[in-house]
Amino acid sequence: MRAATAAAAAAILALAPCAHGASAAPGRPSVAFPPANARLPAVTQCYVIGAAPPGATNVWVDGTSVAVYRTGAFLAMVDTVPGETNTLSVACDGGPALVRRFFVAAPPPPGTQAQPPPAPFTDPDSDPRVKKPWTAWKAKPNLFPNRVQPEPGNGREIAHLPGGFAVQGAEISEPAGYVCVWLGGRSGFVPRARLEPAKGEIPPRDTPAPDVSQGFAACPQGRKAAEIRVLVDPGHGGPDTGALSPHGWCEKTANLLQALETAKALREAGFDVRMTRDGDSFPALYDRPHDAFAWHADAFVSIHHNSTPPNKNPSKERYTATFAYNERGMALAAAVQKRVAAALPDVPDRGALEKSLAVCRNPAVPSCLVEVDFISCPEGEEAVFGDIGRRRRVAEAIAAGIKDWAGL
Ligand SMILES: [Zn+2]
Repeated sequence: MRAATAAAAAAILALAPCAHGASAAPGRPSVAFPPANARLPAVTQCYVIGAAPPGATNVWVDGTSVAVYRTGAFLAMVDTVPGETNTLSVACDGGPALVRRFFVAAPPPPGTQAQPPPAPFTDPDSDPRVKKPWTAWKAKPNLFPNRVQPEPGNGREIAHLPGGFAVQGAEISEPAGYVCVWLGGRSGFVPRARLEPAKGEIPPRDTPAPDVSQGFAACPQGRKAAEIRVLVDPGHGGPDTGALSPHGWCEKTANLLQALETAKALREAGFDVRMTRDGDSFPALYDRPHDAFAWHADAFVSIHHNSTPPNKNPSKERYTATFAYNERGMALAAAVQKRVAAALPDVPDRGALEKSLAVCRNPAVPSCLVEVDFISCPEGEEAVFGDIGRRRRVAEAIAAGIKDWAGL
């Protein structure tokens, strides 16, 4: 976790754009999506994005003419055949074609139903899937992946277990990889990888759920900006590029540029600001909320840029939204999104939405994730990477939203 600096910003500019899969040979267009040898789900159409060489006004995608956007980017929708390797041909007038091969998964055979959900563990004592006897277990460090859910891998968290926290539990046979535990007199499920068998006395079943939000405020109302800690999280990083734009520029770079500008705007508004990364590193997913918890942050804001599933047209799907999971996160998300949407009048506003995202499940620090815009369509790519003024407006909007939320 670092404080953003001007030097860091300069280092980023040197690495943007990342040329992931998309440097065009002379006279030949590049294709950013679908990537070479991609494995797509069972779709019957998919979007194709790429960039034409300078001067080209049309590209031909599988023989159909597609207009080139003013930045050189193009977008087409093509039909695909599930269950086989698909071939795509993209060329400019008179130039050599780029041939792209990718695999589309087969649809499930007719008559097959989705797996019915497993029966709930209503009585773990008599359920044959629970491998008795009940013994003592303790949680591994970092409470964020230590989720206790009402069913294995399913349902709103009953609690997050801090490292070393002891519970009574027993492994289950199906689904594999979970331990049934007792907290506050009720059963729940924790990934087996997050617990280790403990020696000594077996904790009672009515061991109260730990309250990890103790000492954290739902909102820092009544405090000065200088006393409010904001952790800004640029999504993805390092080997995790995130989504790609038509020119093959990476979401991780867009996120970092927007996050650095946001940290600057927040600092100018007087807040105490840190970042989860200020270069091209990849903090592990659960280390990000842990940073917020360990620093005792008052707010956590993750910054991302979106793309669509392969079969959706990103130009048509484009929107801005802020996600959160729990009550304290939703209040922050609503305030931030109201300002961000006002700063982006050309992008449809989906508002503040509830979603179970790893960085939003923080039970202590109010947390949200801003999907500023889409980078997988030509218009979004141009706005996100090309419009520095807009980047500043979005940064100021996020800062203004946090001020509204904190009553400043
Ligand atoms: Zn992302």
